[in-house]
Amino acid sequence: MHKFFRFPIKFILLVTLASLLLLLSFGCAGFRADPRDPSRTPVARHGQLSVQNGRLINQHGEEVQLKGVSTGGLQHYEGVVNAEAFDALAYDWGVDVVRLAMYVGEAGYATRPRLADVVERGIELAIERGMYVIVDWHVHVPGDPRHPVYAGAPDFFTRIAEKYGEYPHVIYEIMNEPNGPLDWSLDLKPYAQSMVDLIREIDPNNLIIIGTPNWSQDVDIAAADPVEGVNLAYALHFYAGTHGDALRDKARKAVELEQLVFVSEWGTSLASGDGGPFLEKSLEWLDFLDEHKISWVNWNLSNRDEISAILTALRRGNGLTVIQPQGPLRPSRVNSQGIPYWPPDEHLTESGRWVREQILAD
Ligand code: CA
Repeated sequence: MHKFFRFPIKFILLVTLASLLLLLSFGCAGFRADPRDPSRTPVARHGQLSVQNGRLINQHGEEVQLKGVSTGGLQHYEGVVNAEAFDALAYDWGVDVVRLAMYVGEAGYATRPRLADVVERGIELAIERGMYVIVDWHVHVPGDPRHPVYAGAPDFFTRIAEKYGEYPHVIYEIMNEPNGPLDWSLDLKPYAQSMVDLIREIDPNNLIIIGTPNWSQDVDIAAADPVEGVNLAYALHFYAGTHGDALRDKARKAVELEQLVFVSEWGTSLASGDGGPFLEKSLEWLDFLDEHKISWVNWNLSNRDEISAILTALRRGNGLTVIQPQGPLRPSRVNSQGIPYWPPDEHLTESGRWVREQILAD
């Protein structure tokens, strides 16, 4: 008896094991989650965001850290606001958040008000894919948000808040990088307070990111004298080749003051947008941000001829940055699941490939 049953048992075990292995291998291929599943998008998972004790909190009361990318200036790169690019970001990159960088000066909204339509198109593409979307009033040149060139801010944010304030996807950013001889408490905070009050009359709860003095670096100074209101964050911008420990110390101080720090812009390059990429220094930064659960948005999704750009340039400018509104702004390929993507070796820069890996590794 003993000997008779020995073989069949071994045989049955072997067949069972083989079947299990087969099932597993089919299961992995056949049951791979579709990244387009609407129940798995960032907004489906996290819903309405809020700020509690300087922490970003999702609808379940859990702390959340968002990661994503910013477009380049929409006055040059509105071509990147297309369905395929947003598919690639949502489903091939797995970004949580897209920032729409609407310059106001420098041939931006002040002289081309139809850029607001481009922003609305971007908001809708993001909402359709369940991503958070930052509407960035890109104060840059001139550096004072009270300069006449920025006089359209109340109308613009009224329009956006009235149309999209009910969507948990939308995040307002009211001044990208104020710069020049501006005092936080005397110059910038009153502007920020007036914009926060204006938005809050329409939208009681969506996150508002507030720029800080000195190109959104003095987050410690803003955090020491915060704007009144709910669900507010303070912008910290860094470029890994230029900024390091001194700026991280400022971020730590703001965190200690229990104000939410949000890195709405950072690059792997020098502050100029070019040079590098400084990937080791970038990793040091990203480790720091992970440690403090600080959300981040990488600069920039364009094919501008500079190191911080995510997409490859059509031509190099011999040291001059070349603006190229054509080229791979729309992904050229579709993967086996039907998802558009930028072929990494062909259309992503070294910086772009690295940033995508950091987001995918999350
Ligand atoms: Ca709202």
